[in-house]
Amino acid sequence: MSMSGLRSRATLHDVVPAFVRTPDPSLIQLAANEAAYGPLPSVVEVLAREIEHVNRYPDDGAVELRHTIADWLGVECAEVALGAGSLGLLEQVMLALCDQGSEVVYPWRSFDVYPQLIRVAGATPRPVPLREERNDLDAMLASINERTRVVIVCNPNNPTGPGVGRLELASFLDRVPDTVAVLLDEAYFEYVRDPDMPDGLTLLRDRPNVAVLRTFSKAYGLAALRMGYLVARQPIVEAVDKTHVTYSVSRFAQAAALASISAQDELRERVEATVRERNRVRDALLSQGWEVPPSEGNFVWLRLGAASGGFGKDLERFGVAVKVVPDEGVRVTIGTREENDVLLEAAGAVREDLVSAGGHLPAD
Ligand SMILES: *Cc1c(COP(=O)(O)O)cnc(C)c1O
Repeated sequence: MSMSGLRSRATLHDVVPAFVRTPDPSLIQLAANEAAYGPLPSVVEVLAREIEHVNRYPDDGAVELRHTIADWLGVECAEVALGAGSLGLLEQVMLALCDQGSEVVYPWRSFDVYPQLIRVAGATPRPVPLREERNDLDAMLASINERTRVVIVCNPNNPTGPGVGRLELASFLDRVPDTVAVLLDEAYFEYVRDPDMPDGLTLLRDRPNVAVLRTFSKAYGLAALRMGYLVARQPIVEAVDKTHVTYSVSRFAQAAALASISAQDELRERVEATVRERNRVRDALLSQGWEVPPSEGNFVWLRLGAASGGFGKDLERFGVAVKVVPDEGVRVTIGTREENDVLLEAAGAVREDLVSAGGHLPAD
């Protein structure tokens, strides 16, 4: 059997993201944008009951969950696709819509995994630099050519924090050719408080080439269960469903998502706590002298340039794991109040050392 077809796609080395590291359990984990708290108490109960049924396959059509999500969001059942996390769905979108030679336009620096997933589908990544920490929609539009199949908009942008506004995004969507699919990655939707930022679902109407991607991994605290959903007009959902890996959305994922949807009050409380902590952490870091853009996610970004790697190592010595993007910055996930206090104390101490050593201060 010829392996050339395989070789022309990505090698394992290309596909496994370099950032994946086994977390050190002795550190406070502020590196992966996970929720600070475990799953909602009512969800834990449902999961405990579900364990009795693991001998049974999940409902692969996830009929009940699809209907529930559709009712919840006010869309049709045929407009909802489910996947193993939003990453699973991102990969499905790439496989469904791209061929060898296709191009995918996406913001950069953004979610690490985008280029890997684009290559898995045999497509060519076309990164477009951010402008003022946001997706540069004009530059992304200018990067679209006749080979472009998909454009990813990460709103708000991970790892930097700010998002693009409603008018700007709507005007961009109006100018993207309708042969190009636009994927609105709203992984942090629940944490958004900027009134100017859109709910992507309101932009779907009359736009058959747009899809909204959301997840139960972040605000709902279900990252390990792999549960994401995509909302789009039926033709996109049908195409995405054709690439679904059978049984990849587990019984636990489905049951936990159903329980989470009916626990919105519990959720709101937690998300509010994280948003309050996000504002407190950013204000404290700013007053220590760091440069921190506003964030609409459960994380903040310290623009540290060449000092990023050193800062990450310093924080590890204080027992805190953060995500370092070498030579660009450090992303810090918002944890519990106590975890954030440790972070702030560590960052303050690092800052004082820098100042007293007369070292280069990134904010200067
Ligand atoms: C965390 C994150 C996701 C979520 O991934 P899951 O596969 O749903 O866990 C998707 N997009 C972005 C930008 C993220 O930061």
